[in-house]
Amino acid sequence: RTVYVNGDYLPEEDAKISVFDRGFLFADGVYEVTSVLGGKILDFDGHTVRLERSLKELGMGMPLSRDELLAIHRKLVADNGIDDGLVYLQITRGAADRDFAYPDPDTPQSVVLFTQSKPGLAESPMAKEGMKIISIPDERWGRRDIKTVQLLYPSMGKMMAKAAGAHDAWMTEDGHVTEGTSNNAYIVKGNTIVTRHLGNEILHGITRAAVLRFAREAQMQVEERAFTLDEAAEADEAFITSASTFVMPVVELDGAPIGTGRPGPVAARLREIYLDESRKAAI
Ligand code: PMP
Repeated sequence: RTVYVNGDYLPEEDAKISVFDRGFLFADGVYEVTSVLGGKILDFDGHTVRLERSLKELGMGMPLSRDELLAIHRKLVADNGIDDGLVYLQITRGAADRDFAYPDPDTPQSVVLFTQSKPGLAESPMAKEGMKIISIPDERWGRRDIKTVQLLYPSMGKMMAKAAGAHDAWMTEDGHVTEGTSNNAYIVKGNTIVTRHLGNEILHGITRAAVLRFAREAQMQVEERAFTLDEAAEADEAFITSASTFVMPVVELDGAPIGTGRPGPVAARLREIYLDESRKAAI
């Protein structure tokens, strides 16, 4: 596999990052994951805008232009023969002597990109079966709107879900669902789709923005507000969104079925619209 590291395209075995990299020592870095379908990149501009915002919130700049980033994405997709898959991008504050204070602003940032091939990414069996979810307390830090590489609690959450025989966990804070370990969370009651409002408590999903736009265009009702686990338990259906899973139905919460216990029509319709529209707009 060819990967990109600080200006070079290298076989993955030859790619190196300093042991002093602040991404490694302090999780002082941000990332993006963008889907590729049919060799084309989905929602590239949405991911780039969020990347720039994450960097800015941490006092870092964009080391590469939008067009340079797009060229790197495309070259990696081509060189690695990716038809369906993902592009992972990480930018850190770079390598410096270990110190909590940020290093000199001219310290070169580290930029790494690699691809993951996922044949049949859009035809996941999970879309037909639905996901089982458990709830866990949200014990992450308070700036979840910044897409940092500090992902230990979400990893713990995934392991808790696995141990419980589930696929993922929804996190709760002050009695309300924030989001999934790596996705935004939704319930459907009657004609209304409910998902948490934007704020520092959740990541501002690129897929969330697109799906809510398509839902409104299709005359569905959308409420952006926090919801409780009780509301989720009583919902007609539930689903998640993320760049790598698109729209995925949720059929079980803490061992009890949601709605009929089968994937619901709203999630199925939004998945179809999202995939159609995203493929059309892919670059
Ligand atoms: N929330 C969290 C915590 C995430 O990690 C992700 C995926 N990166 C999302 C939501 C979904 O965001 P997106 O649709 O941009 O992938």
